[in-house]
Amino acid sequence: MTGRVAVVGSANVDLVVDVPRQPHGGETLLGGDVRRSPGGKGANQAVAASLAGGAETTFVGAFGVDDGAEFLLASLTKAGVRTDLVSRVDSATGTAFIMVSPDGENSIVVAPGANSRLQLGEEQLERIASADVVLAQLEVPLEAVTAAAAARRSGARMVLNAAPSRPLPDLDLDVLVVNEHEAADLAGTPGSPEELARILQQRAPAVVITLGAAGCVVAEAEIAHLPGFRVSPVDTTGAGDTFCGVLAAVLAEGRPLREAAERAGAAAALAVTRPGAQSAVPTAAEVAEFAE
Ligand code: ADP
Repeated sequence: MTGRVAVVGSANVDLVVDVPRQPHGGETLLGGDVRRSPGGKGANQAVAASLAGGAETTFVGAFGVDDGAEFLLASLTKAGVRTDLVSRVDSATGTAFIMVSPDGENSIVVAPGANSRLQLGEEQLERIASADVVLAQLEVPLEAVTAAAAARRSGARMVLNAAPSRPLPDLDLDVLVVNEHEAADLAGTPGSPEELARILQQRAPAVVITLGAAGCVVAEAEIAHLPGFRVSPVDTTGAGDTFCGVLAAVLAEGRPLREAAERAGAAAALAVTRPGAQSAVPTAAEVAEFAE
């Protein structure tokens, strides 16, 4: 069965440049050629839900009226994501400026632009109400996340990837997905993944904490640790996004959370063996073959 997923979130044009080292304040450095790639947590997760998860996926976000918007739309469309409800606002399309130095350190400046202007209108709320799973992150206004949660139909599930870390109001959630750092931030205390998951269950009845190569912890009534798939990582950018998108897609098929986390882990492991974010997302067939 194919499920329906609505992703409410951000999209950014990532502009990446290699630098010999990170510049000091006031300094000008020469870097390499600029590479442009489609990114932003919302768009990455929508691509993963559609391509790797096989869900009928709608992306609900805000773009400017510029070349960056066309670039992002092309990547979403190529992955089979519906973009008919993307709104166009009077602001530049979100852009991330990423400087990568040979020591592997990244400096990133995000200009959220249109993302910070996302508002949900009637058509968007209607599409959200027809989804089996609504998936959101925290790179767009919290009002949009709250409105999406309120618009879901009864029986549909609200999945929040609480990233990047920011204070979170009370939200009506079904599943909360965070990495270890976000889990500690949100819980307000350090602790083992299991301890943090139990604390975060005050926020949502089900919590998934991702642990990089170590896999994830899934907490519902019981807590289970699902080990990671063994791969040789090439680029871990977007691992968490691939995980969230596929998790939502499998939940939308009506499958249990644990099975969703397993398939999400397989897809994310495959994604880390390839460079890029959206370009690293595997197809559903590749995930099925890999997980066998
Ligand atoms: P984020 O990218 O948000 O920091 P994680 O690093 O926890 O998130 O990765 C998300 C998921 O991606 C993990 O739960 C795991 O399933 C998968 N993953 C990430 N890194 C690896 C790795 N090196 N090997 C295998 N799987 C990985």
